[in-house]
Amino acid sequence: MRGYVHSIETMGLVDGPGTRTVFFLQGCPLRCAYCHNPDTQRRAGGEPYTPEQILEVAKRYRSYYGQEGGVTFSGGEPLLQGEFLAACLQILKREGYNTCIDTSGFGNPKYYQQILPLVDTLILDVKAFDRASFAELTMVDGFQTYLQFLASLEDSGFEGQIWVRHVMVPGWTDNEQAMRRFIELIRPIWTRVDRIEILPYHTSGVQKYERLGLPYRLEGVEPMDKGRAKELEIYANKVFAEGLKAQRQEQAEKLRGQPEKPEAAAADLGKSALLSILRGQPLFSDLAEEDVQDVLEQVVLADIKAGEYIFKTGDPPEFMYLIYQGQMKIFINTMDGEEQIFYIYRDGDFVGGLNLLVQTPYRYIGQALTDCKVVVIPKAAFDRYFYDSPVVLRSVLVKSFERIRWAEDLIQRLATSNASMKTAGLLLKLAKRIGVETEEGIRLELSMNREELGSYSGLRRETITRKLGEFKELGYIELVGNKVIIIKDLEALESYVL
Ligand code: SF4
Repeated sequence: MRGYVHSIETMGLVDGPGTRTVFFLQGCPLRCAYCHNPDTQRRAGGEPYTPEQILEVAKRYRSYYGQEGGVTFSGGEPLLQGEFLAACLQILKREGYNTCIDTSGFGNPKYYQQILPLVDTLILDVKAFDRASFAELTMVDGFQTYLQFLASLEDSGFEGQIWVRHVMVPGWTDNEQAMRRFIELIRPIWTRVDRIEILPYHTSGVQKYERLGLPYRLEGVEPMDKGRAKELEIYANKVFAEGLKAQRQEQAEKLRGQPEKPEAAAADLGKSALLSILRGQPLFSDLAEEDVQDVLEQVVLADIKAGEYIFKTGDPPEFMYLIYQGQMKIFINTMDGEEQIFYIYRDGDFVGGLNLLVQTPYRYIGQALTDCKVVVIPKAAFDRYFYDSPVVLRSVLVKSFERIRWAEDLIQRLATSNASMKTAGLLLKLAKRIGVETEEGIRLELSMNREELGSYSGLRRETITRKLGEFKELGYIELVGNKVIIIKDLEALESYVL
């Protein structure tokens, strides 16, 4: 298999994190008015390369890549050579390279599921924010295709980070309203976005058009004022951070506060009520008639007040609990002393079945959120009457599976704290602990180096250095040597974290 490469940049510093080898692939379906590389647009041309040859080139420069760097495919539109790109990424990933593609989202979707899971960083070029301007700028009525690409990223198995870029042309999108539309447009990918950049339009590619004998459609348009572009980049980043924060708060709310069911009228819950409760629970539907009385003797219906604990971390697996009425939260206390809620259980839910089956102590804390009525089944009764029940076993397994999926989703949500959030979070933590108010801002005298700062916040040294640089450019902080950071805009940092 061969792909067609327009050119190669061996030590690229702007096309993805770190130092990278950039392969500019030939061909692009768009005709952006400001395109600096019109010679990459034609599908014909370029040098033929096999994926193995791409790997050979990458190998030559590997020692320069450091922790963050690697290989980038740009263009043109790299997705246009989908089959070749997929083969290159496979071979590079097998060898442990960090990968990046710089795309506008115009390729053959049939290759996306092969390509996107292998991409660590996706640089997404956002051309315009509505159909008409998109068509005017690119000469292709492709806004819908573009939106579909955004929407399909997650489903295609993409798990990397996204850098969003927009080239700002004077008179087109150089205003705050356009920036708000820009951020709204990329809402489907918010949780993956690590960086938003505004690139000011410049005219340095015009000569290429003259050489190629092509008309230049932005003739007479002045280069974009860099200062204004930076202001709007800062504004766009703020709008994004605030939007993301609101989105995460909403998710957290959903996780915590599922609406309560109306309380059933308080009943006299003696043994006869307990019997009807057990009978009404699908979980006990195959309990033999002759065992019912015995089970009733052994299980207890406990009234638990809101705030009381049902079990704690480390408790031995001695009971299974079935919630008849009320709500219980399952959580742990994190190392920061914060409560991390995993699940809210309610009427009909049970907990502890798996612990009894596999004999492991409780790892979490169960606490009543409301006054609860809970059926407590001791291990002896469970072993005797339920251990061999297909209905119980199936229910325990299904529930466990559902909970694992739920926990995976939660982990993903937590992991989607991107590098910006982690860096902002770290700075805020430090501000609280060691920050000194000064006239210039909150001064942090650090005892940690970048490496330690990185590991403290779960980031690599290069990433934290890059993020601090970005925050500096956005005017949030000032860096004084390696050991002093001055926070200039606390509010901006706060908008990144919950
Ligand atoms: S997408 Fe990129 S390569 Fe294609 S026309 Fe636009 S600027 Fe040029």
